Amino acid sequence: MSTKLKTWSSKDRQKYLNDLKKTTYDVLVIGGGITGAGVLRECGLKGLKAALIEKDDFAFGTSSKSTRLAHGGVRYILNLEFGLVSEETRERDWLRDAYPNMARPVPIIYANYSLIEAIIMALFFKVYDALAGFGNYRNSRHINKKNIKRLEPNLMIPGLHSGTLLYECIINDARLTLEVIKEGVILGATAVNYAKANKIISKGKGAVGVEVVDRETNETFIISAKTIVNATGPWTDLLMPKGTKPLIRPAKGIHIAVKRESIGNVSGLYVKSTVDKRGVFLLAHGEFTHIGTTDTDYRGDLNECYTNNLEYEYFKGIINHCFPDAKFAPEDLLGSYAGSRPLVIEPGVSADKTSRREYISEVMPGFFVIAGGKLTIFRAMAEKLLTFAEKKKAVTVQKSKSLCSKTPFTLGITRKEWDIMIGGNPTIRGLKLDEKTTEHVYQNYGRGGIILLESIKKDPSLKQKIADGQPNIWAELDYALDYEQVTHVKDFLLRRTDLSLHQRGNHDELGRKIAARMAQRLGWDKNRAEREVSDYVTLAFKNKFFLKKTVTKSTARGG
Ligand SMILES: Cc1cc2nc3c(=O)[nH]c(=O)nc-3n(C[C@H](O)[C@H](O)[C@H](O)COP(=O)(O)OP(=O)(O)OC[C@H]3O[C@@H](n4cnc5c(N)ncnc54)[C@H](O)[C@@H]3O)c2cc1C
Repeated sequence: MSTKLKTWSSKDRQKYLNDLKKTTYDVLVIGGGITGAGVLRECGLKGLKAALIEKDDFAFGTSSKSTRLAHGGVRYILNLEFGLVSEETRERDWLRDAYPNMARPVPIIYANYSLIEAIIMALFFKVYDALAGFGNYRNSRHINKKNIKRLEPNLMIPGLHSGTLLYECIINDARLTLEVIKEGVILGATAVNYAKANKIISKGKGAVGVEVVDRETNETFIISAKTIVNATGPWTDLLMPKGTKPLIRPAKGIHIAVKRESIGNVSGLYVKSTVDKRGVFLLAHGEFTHIGTTDTDYRGDLNECYTNNLEYEYFKGIINHCFPDAKFAPEDLLGSYAGSRPLVIEPGVSADKTSRREYISEVMPGFFVIAGGKLTIFRAMAEKLLTFAEKKKAVTVQKSKSLCSKTPFTLGITRKEWDIMIGGNPTIRGLKLDEKTTEHVYQNYGRGGIILLESIKKDPSLKQKIADGQPNIWAELDYALDYEQVTHVKDFLLRRTDLSLHQRGNHDELGRKIAARMAQRLGWDKNRAEREVSDYVTLAFKNKFFLKKTVTKSTARGG
Protein backbone atom coordinates (compact mmCIF):
# COMPACT_ATOMS: atom_id res chain seq x y z
CA MET A 1 0.00 0.00 0.00
CA SER A 2 1.22 3.50 -0.74
CA THR A 3 1.59 5.86 2.18
CA LYS A 4 -0.91 8.42 0.90
CA LEU A 5 -3.25 9.50 3.65
CA LYS A 6 -6.36 11.67 3.66
CA THR A 7 -5.71 14.97 5.45
CA TRP A 8 -7.95 15.57 8.43
CA SER A 9 -7.01 18.88 9.97
CA SER A 10 -8.62 21.37 12.32
CA LYS A 11 -7.74 23.97 9.63
CA ASP A 12 -10.59 22.39 7.63
CA ARG A 13 -13.00 22.33 10.56
CA GLN A 14 -15.33 24.88 8.93
CA LYS A 15 -15.55 22.74 5.81
CA TYR A 16 -16.43 19.67 7.90
CA LEU A 17 -19.06 21.70 9.77
CA ASN A 18 -20.54 22.88 6.47
CA ASP A 19 -20.77 19.25 5.37
CA LEU A 20 -22.57 18.40 8.60
CA LYS A 21 -25.07 21.21 8.01
CA LYS A 22 -25.99 20.33 4.44
CA THR A 23 -25.94 16.52 4.40
CA THR A 24 -28.59 14.05 5.48
CA TYR A 25 -26.61 11.15 6.91
CA ASP A 26 -27.53 7.50 6.97
CA VAL A 27 -26.02 7.40 10.47
CA LEU A 28 -24.99 10.17 12.84
CA VAL A 29 -22.90 8.99 15.79
CA ILE A 30 -22.83 11.09 18.95
CA GLY A 31 -19.68 10.50 21.03
CA GLY A 32 -16.06 10.19 19.93
CA GLY A 33 -14.94 7.48 22.35
CA ILE A 34 -14.04 3.99 21.19
CA THR A 35 -17.71 2.93 20.98
CA GLY A 36 -18.66 5.78 18.65
CA ALA A 37 -15.41 5.36 16.75
CA GLY A 38 -16.15 1.69 16.16
CA VAL A 39 -19.65 2.49 14.88
CA LEU A 40 -18.27 5.14 12.51
CA ARG A 41 -15.72 2.72 11.06
CA GLU A 42 -18.35 0.01 10.74
CA CYS A 43 -20.67 2.39 8.85
CA GLY A 44 -17.80 3.29 6.51
CA LEU A 45 -17.02 -0.36 5.85
CA LYS A 46 -20.67 -1.05 5.14
CA GLY A 47 -20.97 1.80 2.65
CA LEU A 48 -23.20 4.03 4.80
CA LYS A 49 -22.91 7.82 4.76
CA ALA A 50 -21.89 8.57 8.32
CA ALA A 51 -20.73 11.38 10.59
CA LEU A 52 -19.52 11.61 14.18
CA ILE A 53 -19.62 14.53 16.60
CA GLU A 54 -17.69 14.78 19.86
CA LYS A 55 -18.36 17.47 22.48
CA ASP A 56 -14.70 17.71 23.56
CA ASP A 57 -11.73 16.12 21.90
CA PHE A 58 -11.88 12.61 20.47
CA ALA A 59 -11.26 10.09 23.30
CA PHE A 60 -11.85 12.81 25.90
CA GLY A 61 -13.95 10.41 28.03
CA THR A 62 -13.27 6.92 29.32
CA SER A 63 -11.46 5.93 26.14
CA SER A 64 -8.31 7.78 27.23
CA LYS A 65 -8.55 6.63 30.86
CA SER A 66 -8.33 2.84 30.64
CA THR A 67 -5.72 0.30 31.72
CA ARG A 68 -4.69 0.13 28.06
CA LEU A 69 -5.06 -3.57 27.58
CA ALA A 70 -6.85 -5.43 24.85
CA HIS A 71 -7.63 -8.36 27.09
CA GLY A 72 -9.94 -11.29 27.51
CA GLY A 73 -11.26 -10.20 30.89
CA VAL A 74 -9.95 -13.21 32.79
CA ARG A 75 -11.62 -12.09 36.02
CA TYR A 76 -15.09 -12.24 34.43
CA ILE A 77 -14.78 -16.03 34.66
CA LEU A 78 -15.46 -15.53 38.38
CA ASN A 79 -18.83 -14.02 37.43
CA LEU A 80 -19.38 -17.06 35.16
CA GLU A 81 -19.47 -14.77 32.11
CA PHE A 82 -17.91 -17.37 29.82
CA GLY A 83 -19.48 -15.94 26.64
CA LEU A 84 -18.05 -12.50 27.36
CA VAL A 85 -14.55 -13.89 28.03
CA SER A 86 -14.67 -15.93 24.87
CA GLU A 87 -15.77 -12.92 22.82
CA GLU A 88 -13.16 -10.62 24.39
CA THR A 89 -10.28 -13.01 23.76
CA ARG A 90 -11.30 -13.45 20.14
CA GLU A 91 -11.66 -9.71 19.62
CA ARG A 92 -8.28 -9.13 21.25
CA ASP A 93 -6.75 -11.67 18.85
CA TRP A 94 -8.45 -10.04 15.87
CA LEU A 95 -7.07 -6.65 16.91
CA ARG A 96 -3.58 -8.14 17.29
CA ASP A 97 -3.76 -9.26 13.64
CA ALA A 98 -5.69 -6.31 12.23
CA TYR A 99 -3.67 -3.63 13.96
CA PRO A 100 -0.35 -5.24 14.91
CA ASN A 101 1.68 -2.09 15.55
CA MET A 102 -0.88 -0.96 18.15
CA ALA A 103 -2.03 -4.20 19.85
CA ARG A 104 1.19 -5.89 20.90
CA PRO A 105 1.44 -9.01 23.09
CA VAL A 106 2.75 -8.31 26.57
CA PRO A 107 3.68 -10.85 29.27
CA ILE A 108 1.93 -10.29 32.61
CA ILE A 109 2.77 -12.20 35.79
CA TYR A 110 -0.25 -12.82 37.99
CA ALA A 111 1.03 -13.19 41.54
CA ASN A 112 -0.07 -16.19 43.64
CA TYR A 113 0.15 -15.79 47.40
CA SER A 114 -0.33 -19.43 48.53
CA LEU A 115 -0.21 -23.01 47.26
CA ILE A 116 -4.00 -23.23 47.26
CA GLU A 117 -4.24 -20.05 45.24
CA ALA A 118 -1.59 -21.34 42.83
CA ILE A 119 -3.62 -24.52 42.21
CA ILE A 120 -6.91 -22.66 41.79
CA MET A 121 -5.33 -20.08 39.50
CA ALA A 122 -3.68 -22.78 37.36
CA LEU A 123 -7.11 -24.30 36.72
CA PHE A 124 -8.69 -20.92 36.28
CA PHE A 125 -6.18 -19.90 33.63
CA LYS A 126 -6.59 -23.21 31.79
CA VAL A 127 -10.30 -22.36 31.49
CA TYR A 128 -9.21 -18.97 30.19
CA ASP A 129 -6.97 -20.56 27.54
CA ALA A 130 -9.82 -22.85 26.51
CA LEU A 131 -12.33 -19.99 26.29
CA ALA A 132 -9.84 -18.23 24.01
CA GLY A 133 -9.92 -21.31 21.77
CA PHE A 134 -6.22 -21.69 22.69
CA GLY A 135 -5.66 -18.58 20.57
CA ASN A 136 -3.90 -16.60 23.31
CA TYR A 137 -0.56 -15.36 22.03
CA ARG A 138 0.92 -18.03 24.32
CA ASN A 139 -1.01 -20.29 26.67
CA SER A 140 -0.86 -19.45 30.37
CA ARG A 141 2.01 -21.01 32.31
CA HIS A 142 2.71 -21.55 36.00
CA ILE A 143 6.04 -20.05 37.08
CA ASN A 144 7.86 -20.68 40.31
CA LYS A 145 9.41 -18.07 42.54
CA LYS A 146 12.89 -18.59 41.09
CA ASN A 147 11.67 -17.88 37.58
CA ILE A 148 9.71 -14.85 38.76
CA LYS A 149 12.97 -13.55 40.23
CA ARG A 150 14.66 -14.08 36.88
CA LEU A 151 11.94 -12.19 35.00
CA GLU A 152 11.37 -9.49 37.63
CA PRO A 153 14.55 -9.24 39.71
CA ASN A 154 13.33 -6.28 41.76
CA LEU A 155 9.97 -7.75 42.74
CA MET A 156 9.99 -8.63 46.45
CA ILE A 157 6.42 -9.32 47.55
CA PRO A 158 6.52 -10.71 51.11
CA GLY A 159 5.04 -14.23 51.13
CA LEU A 160 4.86 -14.54 47.33
CA HIS A 161 4.31 -18.20 46.43
CA SER A 162 4.48 -18.33 42.62
CA GLY A 163 2.85 -16.83 39.59
CA THR A 164 1.03 -17.43 36.33
CA LEU A 165 2.46 -15.96 33.17
CA LEU A 166 -0.18 -14.75 30.78
CA TYR A 167 -0.06 -12.76 27.54
CA GLU A 168 -2.53 -9.99 26.79
CA CYS A 169 -2.11 -7.08 24.35
CA ILE A 170 -0.96 -3.63 25.29
CA ILE A 171 -2.59 -0.71 23.45
CA ASN A 172 -2.74 3.06 23.67
CA ASP A 173 -6.45 3.70 24.21
CA ALA A 174 -6.65 7.32 23.02
CA ARG A 175 -4.55 6.62 19.95
CA LEU A 176 -6.54 3.49 19.17
CA THR A 177 -9.76 5.52 19.35
CA LEU A 178 -8.33 8.18 17.10
CA GLU A 179 -7.03 5.65 14.58
CA VAL A 180 -10.44 3.93 14.45
CA ILE A 181 -12.09 7.30 13.75
CA LYS A 182 -9.46 7.98 11.09
CA GLU A 183 -10.33 4.64 9.48
CA GLY A 184 -13.92 5.90 9.29
CA VAL A 185 -12.73 9.19 7.79
CA ILE A 186 -10.59 7.36 5.22
CA LEU A 187 -13.75 5.46 4.27
CA GLY A 188 -15.59 8.74 3.62
CA ALA A 189 -17.10 9.70 6.98
CA THR A 190 -17.03 13.15 8.56
CA ALA A 191 -15.89 13.53 12.18
CA VAL A 192 -15.65 16.77 14.15
CA ASN A 193 -14.48 17.45 17.69
CA TYR A 194 -15.80 20.19 20.00
CA ALA A 195 -19.31 19.77 18.53
CA LYS A 196 -21.83 18.92 21.22
CA ALA A 197 -25.24 17.33 20.70
CA ASN A 198 -27.71 19.45 22.65
CA LYS A 199 -30.82 17.46 21.92
CA ILE A 200 -32.36 14.89 19.63
CA ILE A 201 -34.93 16.30 17.22
CA SER A 202 -37.92 14.10 16.52
CA LYS A 203 -40.79 14.33 14.08
CA GLY A 204 -43.89 12.21 14.53
CA LYS A 205 -42.69 9.11 16.38
CA GLY A 206 -39.12 9.08 15.22
CA ALA A 207 -35.81 10.92 15.43
CA VAL A 208 -34.77 12.94 12.40
CA GLY A 209 -31.80 14.99 13.53
CA VAL A 210 -29.72 16.53 16.27
CA GLU A 211 -29.33 20.09 17.49
CA VAL A 212 -25.62 20.73 17.82
CA VAL A 213 -23.52 23.51 19.28
CA ASP A 214 -20.07 24.20 17.87
CA ARG A 215 -18.17 24.79 21.11
CA GLU A 216 -15.46 26.74 19.31
CA THR A 217 -17.87 29.47 18.15
CA ASN A 218 -21.09 28.81 20.12
CA GLU A 219 -22.99 28.54 16.84
CA THR A 220 -25.98 26.22 17.02
CA PHE A 221 -27.09 24.21 14.00
CA ILE A 222 -28.95 21.05 13.02
CA ILE A 223 -27.63 17.82 11.55
CA SER A 224 -30.15 15.64 9.72
CA ALA A 225 -29.82 11.88 9.86
CA LYS A 226 -31.97 8.85 9.18
CA THR A 227 -30.43 7.05 12.15
CA ILE A 228 -28.83 8.58 15.24
CA VAL A 229 -26.65 6.65 17.66
CA ASN A 230 -26.10 7.71 21.26
CA ALA A 231 -22.58 6.44 22.01
CA THR A 232 -21.78 8.88 24.80
CA GLY A 233 -20.50 6.40 27.39
CA PRO A 234 -20.91 7.73 30.94
CA TRP A 235 -22.95 10.68 29.54
CA THR A 236 -25.54 8.39 27.89
CA ASP A 237 -28.48 9.30 30.14
CA LEU A 238 -28.15 13.02 29.41
CA LEU A 239 -29.28 12.47 25.82
CA MET A 240 -32.12 10.10 26.56
CA PRO A 241 -35.75 11.27 26.30
CA LYS A 242 -37.22 12.75 29.47
CA GLY A 243 -38.72 10.10 31.76
CA THR A 244 -36.35 7.32 30.58
CA LYS A 245 -35.03 5.16 33.43
CA PRO A 246 -31.30 5.85 34.06
CA LEU A 247 -29.13 3.36 32.23
CA ILE A 248 -25.60 4.13 33.39
CA ARG A 249 -23.81 3.74 36.68
CA PRO A 250 -20.47 5.52 36.33
CA ALA A 251 -17.64 3.72 38.16
CA LYS A 252 -14.43 5.63 38.70
CA GLY A 253 -11.03 4.14 37.93
CA ILE A 254 -7.68 5.85 38.24
CA HIS A 255 -4.11 5.21 37.11
CA ILE A 256 -0.80 6.78 37.98
CA ALA A 257 2.30 6.98 35.77
CA VAL A 258 5.93 6.77 36.87
CA LYS A 259 9.33 6.27 35.25
CA ARG A 260 9.85 2.52 35.03
CA GLU A 261 13.30 2.83 36.60
CA SER A 262 11.80 4.43 39.73
CA ILE A 263 10.00 1.14 40.47
CA GLY A 264 12.23 -1.34 38.68
CA ASN A 265 9.62 -3.58 37.04
CA VAL A 266 10.56 -5.16 33.72
CA SER A 267 7.17 -5.92 32.21
CA GLY A 268 3.59 -6.50 33.38
CA LEU A 269 2.40 -7.57 36.82
CA TYR A 270 -0.95 -8.20 38.46
CA VAL A 271 -0.62 -8.00 42.23
CA LYS A 272 -2.97 -7.66 45.16
CA SER A 273 -3.40 -4.69 47.43
CA THR A 274 -2.73 -5.42 51.08
CA VAL A 275 -5.58 -3.05 51.99
CA ASP A 276 -8.51 -4.78 50.29
CA LYS A 277 -7.00 -7.67 48.27
CA ARG A 278 -8.09 -6.11 44.96
CA GLY A 279 -5.92 -6.89 41.96
CA VAL A 280 -3.96 -4.05 40.38
CA PHE A 281 -1.88 -3.93 37.19
CA LEU A 282 1.62 -2.51 36.93
CA LEU A 283 2.28 -2.30 33.20
CA ALA A 284 5.42 -1.23 31.40
CA HIS A 285 4.88 1.24 28.56
CA GLY A 286 8.38 1.67 27.19
CA GLU A 287 10.37 3.62 29.77
CA PHE A 288 7.26 4.23 31.87
CA THR A 289 5.00 2.21 34.15
CA HIS A 290 1.26 2.74 34.58
CA ILE A 291 -0.39 1.46 37.73
CA GLY A 292 -4.13 0.93 38.05
CA THR A 293 -6.94 0.68 38.64
CA THR A 294 -9.71 1.30 41.15
CA ASP A 295 -13.42 0.61 40.72
CA THR A 296 -15.75 2.78 42.79
CA ASP A 297 -19.12 4.38 42.19
CA TYR A 298 -18.76 7.95 40.94
CA ARG A 299 -21.36 10.65 41.34
CA GLY A 300 -19.25 13.73 40.60
CA ASP A 301 -19.01 15.85 37.46
CA LEU A 302 -18.21 13.50 34.58
CA ASN A 303 -16.23 16.24 32.86
CA GLU A 304 -14.04 16.82 35.90
CA CYS A 305 -12.94 13.43 37.15
CA TYR A 306 -9.48 13.41 38.79
CA THR A 307 -7.35 11.31 41.10
CA ASN A 308 -7.50 12.12 44.81
CA ASN A 309 -4.99 11.77 47.60
CA LEU A 310 -6.32 8.51 49.05
CA GLU A 311 -6.31 6.83 45.67
CA TYR A 312 -2.73 7.92 45.18
CA GLU A 313 -1.75 6.65 48.65
CA TYR A 314 -3.40 3.31 47.84
CA PHE A 315 -1.12 2.82 44.83
CA LYS A 316 1.92 4.12 46.65
CA GLY A 317 1.29 1.43 49.29
CA ILE A 318 1.09 -1.29 46.64
CA ILE A 319 4.30 -0.16 44.92
CA ASN A 320 6.28 -0.05 48.14
CA HIS A 321 4.88 -3.41 49.23
CA CYS A 322 5.94 -5.10 45.97
CA PHE A 323 9.12 -3.10 45.30
CA PRO A 324 10.39 -2.07 48.76
CA ASP A 325 13.77 -1.01 47.37
CA ALA A 326 12.04 1.58 45.19
CA LYS A 327 11.10 3.65 48.27
CA PHE A 328 8.47 5.20 46.11
CA ALA A 329 7.68 8.80 47.08
CA PRO A 330 5.58 11.68 45.65
CA GLU A 331 8.62 13.05 43.75
CA ASP A 332 8.60 9.83 41.69
CA LEU A 333 5.12 10.45 40.40
CA LEU A 334 4.85 11.78 36.85
CA GLY A 335 1.11 12.07 36.37
CA SER A 336 -2.27 10.44 36.74
CA TYR A 337 -5.56 10.03 34.94
CA ALA A 338 -9.05 9.22 36.15
CA GLY A 339 -12.14 8.18 34.23
CA SER A 340 -15.48 6.54 34.76
CA ARG A 341 -16.65 3.27 33.30
CA PRO A 342 -20.05 3.48 31.63
CA LEU A 343 -21.42 0.44 33.45
CA VAL A 344 -24.97 -0.55 32.62
CA ILE A 345 -27.04 -0.55 35.82
CA GLU A 346 -27.74 -3.95 37.39
CA PRO A 347 -29.77 -3.35 40.54
CA GLY A 348 -28.21 -4.81 43.71
CA VAL A 349 -24.81 -5.56 42.14
CA SER A 350 -21.55 -3.80 43.15
CA ALA A 351 -19.56 -1.78 40.57
CA ASP A 352 -16.81 -4.41 40.67
CA LYS A 353 -19.26 -7.23 39.88
CA THR A 354 -21.40 -5.41 37.32
CA SER A 355 -21.21 -7.08 33.92
CA ARG A 356 -19.08 -5.42 31.26
CA ARG A 357 -21.47 -6.57 28.53
CA GLU A 358 -22.68 -3.96 26.09
CA TYR A 359 -26.23 -2.71 25.95
CA ILE A 360 -27.90 -1.93 22.63
CA SER A 361 -31.45 -0.76 22.15
CA GLU A 362 -33.77 1.30 19.98
CA VAL A 363 -34.97 4.24 22.05
CA MET A 364 -37.42 5.42 19.38
CA PRO A 365 -37.51 4.85 15.62
CA GLY A 366 -34.24 6.23 14.25
CA PHE A 367 -32.58 6.67 17.66
CA PHE A 368 -30.36 3.94 19.06
CA VAL A 369 -28.24 3.67 22.17
CA ILE A 370 -25.08 1.63 22.62
CA ALA A 371 -23.35 1.61 26.01
CA GLY A 372 -21.19 -0.47 28.34
CA GLY A 373 -18.81 -3.02 26.86
CA LYS A 374 -15.04 -2.63 26.68
CA LEU A 375 -12.45 -1.08 24.45
CA THR A 376 -11.35 -4.57 23.44
CA ILE A 377 -14.70 -5.46 21.90
CA PHE A 378 -15.40 -2.21 20.07
CA ARG A 379 -15.58 -3.94 16.67
CA ALA A 380 -18.01 -6.62 17.83
CA MET A 381 -20.16 -3.98 19.55
CA ALA A 382 -20.33 -1.87 16.40
CA GLU A 383 -21.16 -4.88 14.26
CA LYS A 384 -23.97 -5.89 16.63
CA LEU A 385 -25.39 -2.38 16.64
CA LEU A 386 -25.55 -2.23 12.86
CA THR A 387 -27.03 -5.72 12.59
CA PHE A 388 -29.67 -4.66 15.10
CA ALA A 389 -30.34 -1.38 13.25
CA GLU A 390 -30.67 -3.33 10.01
CA LYS A 391 -33.22 -5.65 11.60
CA LYS A 392 -35.15 -2.59 12.73
CA LYS A 393 -34.94 -1.35 9.10
CA ALA A 394 -33.11 1.77 10.24
CA VAL A 395 -30.19 1.16 7.87
CA THR A 396 -29.77 -0.78 4.66
CA VAL A 397 -26.47 -2.57 4.05
CA GLN A 398 -25.67 -4.12 0.70
CA LYS A 399 -25.24 -7.90 1.02
CA SER A 400 -21.71 -7.73 -0.41
CA LYS A 401 -20.65 -5.47 2.46
CA SER A 402 -22.37 -7.22 5.34
CA LEU A 403 -19.35 -9.34 6.31
CA CYS A 404 -16.59 -6.77 6.00
CA SER A 405 -16.27 -5.80 9.66
CA LYS A 406 -13.10 -7.81 10.22
CA THR A 407 -11.22 -5.99 7.45
CA PRO A 408 -7.71 -5.13 8.69
CA PHE A 409 -6.91 -1.52 9.48
CA THR A 410 -5.68 0.61 6.58
CA LEU A 411 -3.19 2.19 8.97
CA GLY A 412 -2.10 -1.06 10.61
CA ILE A 413 1.27 -2.51 9.67
CA THR A 414 3.25 -5.57 10.75
CA ARG A 415 6.80 -5.20 11.97
CA LYS A 416 8.06 -7.08 8.92
CA GLU A 417 6.27 -4.74 6.51
CA TRP A 418 7.47 -1.73 8.50
CA ASP A 419 11.09 -2.90 8.42
CA ILE A 420 10.87 -3.47 4.67
CA MET A 421 9.25 -0.06 4.08
CA ILE A 422 11.74 1.77 6.28
CA GLY A 423 14.72 -0.18 4.91
CA GLY A 424 13.63 0.45 1.32
CA ASN A 425 12.96 4.15 1.86
CA PRO A 426 16.17 6.14 1.17
CA THR A 427 14.58 9.32 2.60
CA ILE A 428 13.95 7.73 5.96
CA ARG A 429 17.20 5.75 6.01
CA GLY A 430 19.05 8.99 5.36
CA LEU A 431 17.59 10.54 8.52
CA LYS A 432 19.67 8.22 10.72
CA LEU A 433 17.05 8.14 13.45
CA ASP A 434 17.75 6.26 16.66
CA GLU A 435 15.98 2.95 17.11
CA LYS A 436 13.85 4.13 20.03
CA THR A 437 12.35 6.93 17.95
CA THR A 438 11.46 4.70 15.00
CA GLU A 439 10.00 2.11 17.39
CA HIS A 440 7.88 4.77 19.08
CA VAL A 441 6.64 6.03 15.70
CA TYR A 442 5.93 2.50 14.50
CA GLN A 443 3.87 1.60 17.56
CA ASN A 444 1.83 4.78 17.71
CA TYR A 445 1.29 5.76 14.08
CA GLY A 446 1.50 2.52 12.09
CA ARG A 447 1.52 3.16 8.36
CA GLY A 448 0.98 6.88 9.01
CA GLY A 449 4.41 6.83 10.63
CA ILE A 450 6.02 6.61 7.20
CA ILE A 451 4.50 9.98 6.23
CA LEU A 452 5.45 11.36 9.63
CA LEU A 453 9.08 10.35 9.21
CA GLU A 454 9.24 11.48 5.58
CA SER A 455 8.23 15.00 6.70
CA ILE A 456 11.58 15.33 8.47
CA LYS A 457 13.34 15.41 5.12
CA LYS A 458 11.75 18.82 4.36
CA ASP A 459 12.47 20.19 7.82
CA PRO A 460 15.27 18.41 9.71
CA SER A 461 14.39 20.26 12.94
CA LEU A 462 11.30 18.03 13.17
CA LYS A 463 13.63 15.23 14.19
CA GLN A 464 14.31 16.93 17.54
CA LYS A 465 12.72 15.59 20.72
CA ILE A 466 9.92 17.72 22.16
CA ALA A 467 10.74 17.13 25.83
CA ASP A 468 13.66 15.62 27.72
CA GLY A 469 13.27 11.97 28.63
CA GLN A 470 10.35 11.39 26.28
CA PRO A 471 10.40 9.70 22.88
CA ASN A 472 8.19 12.21 21.03
CA ILE A 473 9.62 14.26 18.16
CA TRP A 474 8.35 17.51 16.65
CA ALA A 475 7.24 15.76 13.45
CA GLU A 476 4.41 14.27 15.53
CA LEU A 477 2.84 17.68 16.10
CA ASP A 478 2.87 18.52 12.41
CA TYR A 479 1.41 15.12 11.63
CA ALA A 480 -1.31 15.63 14.25
CA LEU A 481 -2.10 19.04 12.75
CA ASP A 482 -2.41 17.65 9.23
CA TYR A 483 -3.92 14.22 9.81
CA GLU A 484 -5.41 14.06 13.32
CA GLN A 485 -7.61 17.13 13.72
CA VAL A 486 -5.75 18.38 16.77
CA THR A 487 -7.61 21.54 17.78
CA HIS A 488 -6.09 22.60 21.10
CA VAL A 489 -2.72 22.33 22.83
CA LYS A 490 -4.25 19.99 25.43
CA ASP A 491 -5.46 17.62 22.67
CA PHE A 492 -1.91 17.06 21.53
CA LEU A 493 -0.35 16.79 24.98
CA LEU A 494 -3.02 14.61 26.59
CA ARG A 495 -4.43 12.42 23.84
CA ARG A 496 -2.43 12.44 20.58
CA THR A 497 0.61 11.76 22.76
CA ASP A 498 1.45 10.90 26.39
CA LEU A 499 3.67 13.94 26.73
CA SER A 500 1.62 15.46 29.56
CA LEU A 501 1.17 12.22 31.51
CA HIS A 502 4.88 11.47 31.42
CA GLN A 503 6.11 15.00 32.11
CA ARG A 504 7.49 15.47 35.63
CA GLY A 505 7.11 19.27 35.79
CA ASN A 506 7.55 22.37 33.65
CA HIS A 507 4.11 22.05 32.11
CA ASP A 508 4.10 25.75 31.40
CA GLU A 509 7.21 25.49 29.26
CA LEU A 510 5.88 22.40 27.49
CA GLY A 511 2.53 24.08 26.80
CA ARG A 512 4.28 27.20 25.48
CA LYS A 513 6.43 25.25 23.05
CA ILE A 514 3.43 23.44 21.59
CA ALA A 515 1.29 26.60 21.50
CA ALA A 516 4.02 28.49 19.63
CA ARG A 517 4.17 25.88 16.87
CA MET A 518 0.38 25.54 16.69
CA ALA A 519 0.03 29.34 16.52
CA GLN A 520 2.41 29.39 13.58
CA ARG A 521 0.59 26.59 11.77
CA LEU A 522 -3.00 27.60 12.60
CA GLY A 523 -2.58 31.39 12.58
CA TRP A 524 -3.42 31.97 16.26
CA ASP A 525 -2.85 35.42 17.74
CA LYS A 526 -0.99 36.02 21.01
CA ASN A 527 -4.16 35.96 23.14
CA ARG A 528 -5.28 32.66 21.76
CA ALA A 529 -1.87 31.10 22.31
CA GLU A 530 -1.81 32.38 25.92
CA ARG A 531 -5.30 30.98 26.54
CA GLU A 532 -4.24 27.63 25.16
CA VAL A 533 -1.23 27.46 27.49
CA SER A 534 -3.28 28.48 30.51
CA ASP A 535 -6.02 25.87 29.73
CA TYR A 536 -3.40 23.20 29.39
CA VAL A 537 -1.48 24.09 32.55
CA THR A 538 -4.73 24.13 34.57
CA LEU A 539 -5.50 20.61 33.40
CA ALA A 540 -1.98 19.33 34.04
CA PHE A 541 -2.25 20.75 37.56
CA LYS A 542 -5.61 19.03 38.15
CA ASN A 543 -4.05 15.70 37.22
CA LYS A 544 -1.54 16.12 40.07
CA PHE A 545 -3.66 18.31 42.34
CA PHE A 546 -4.09 15.51 44.91
CA LEU A 547 -0.48 15.86 45.94
CA LYS A 548 -1.29 19.30 47.27
CA LYS A 549 -4.62 18.57 48.88
CA THR A 550 -5.82 16.15 51.53
CA VAL A 551 -9.26 14.70 50.97
CA THR A 552 -11.57 13.06 53.46
CA LYS A 553 -12.00 9.30 53.53
CA SER A 554 -15.62 9.53 52.42
CA THR A 555 -14.68 11.17 49.12
CA ALA A 556 -12.05 8.66 48.17
CA ARG A 557 -11.32 5.02 48.36
CA GLY A 558 -8.29 3.30 47.02
CA GLY A 559 -10.05 0.17 45.95
C1 LIG B 1 -10.24 2.71 34.81
C2 LIG B 1 -10.70 1.98 33.59
C3 LIG B 1 -9.92 0.97 33.03
C4 LIG B 1 -10.34 0.31 31.88
N1 LIG B 1 -9.51 -0.59 31.30
C5 LIG B 1 -9.88 -1.21 30.17
C6 LIG B 1 -8.97 -2.07 29.50
O1 LIG B 1 -7.81 -2.23 29.89
N2 LIG B 1 -9.40 -2.70 28.38
C7 LIG B 1 -10.66 -2.52 27.89
O2 LIG B 1 -10.99 -3.17 26.90
N3 LIG B 1 -11.53 -1.67 28.48
C8 LIG B 1 -11.16 -1.00 29.60
N4 LIG B 1 -12.02 -0.12 30.21
C9 LIG B 1 -13.34 0.09 29.62
C10 LIG B 1 -13.27 1.05 28.45
O3 LIG B 1 -12.33 2.07 28.68
C11 LIG B 1 -14.64 1.65 28.18
O4 LIG B 1 -15.57 0.61 28.07
C12 LIG B 1 -14.66 2.46 26.90
O5 LIG B 1 -13.58 3.35 26.83
C13 LIG B 1 -15.97 3.22 26.81
O6 LIG B 1 -15.96 3.93 25.60
P1 LIG B 1 -17.19 4.82 25.17
O7 LIG B 1 -16.91 5.30 23.81
O8 LIG B 1 -18.44 4.05 25.36
O9 LIG B 1 -17.22 6.01 26.21
P2 LIG B 1 -16.27 7.28 26.24
O10 LIG B 1 -14.90 6.95 25.90
O11 LIG B 1 -16.50 7.98 27.52
O12 LIG B 1 -16.82 8.16 25.04
C14 LIG B 1 -18.01 8.89 25.10
C15 LIG B 1 -17.74 10.22 24.45
O13 LIG B 1 -18.98 10.89 24.23
C16 LIG B 1 -18.73 12.28 24.35
N5 LIG B 1 -20.00 12.96 24.58
C17 LIG B 1 -20.75 12.92 25.71
N6 LIG B 1 -21.87 13.67 25.55
C18 LIG B 1 -21.81 14.17 24.29
C19 LIG B 1 -22.67 15.03 23.56
N7 LIG B 1 -23.81 15.50 24.09
N8 LIG B 1 -22.33 15.36 22.30
C20 LIG B 1 -21.17 14.90 21.75
N9 LIG B 1 -20.32 14.10 22.41
C21 LIG B 1 -20.64 13.72 23.67
C22 LIG B 1 -17.77 12.36 25.52
O14 LIG B 1 -17.07 13.58 25.57
C23 LIG B 1 -16.89 11.15 25.29
O15 LIG B 1 -15.69 11.47 24.60
C24 LIG B 1 -11.60 0.59 31.33
C25 LIG B 1 -12.40 1.60 31.88
C26 LIG B 1 -11.94 2.30 32.99
C27 LIG B 1 -12.75 3.42 33.56
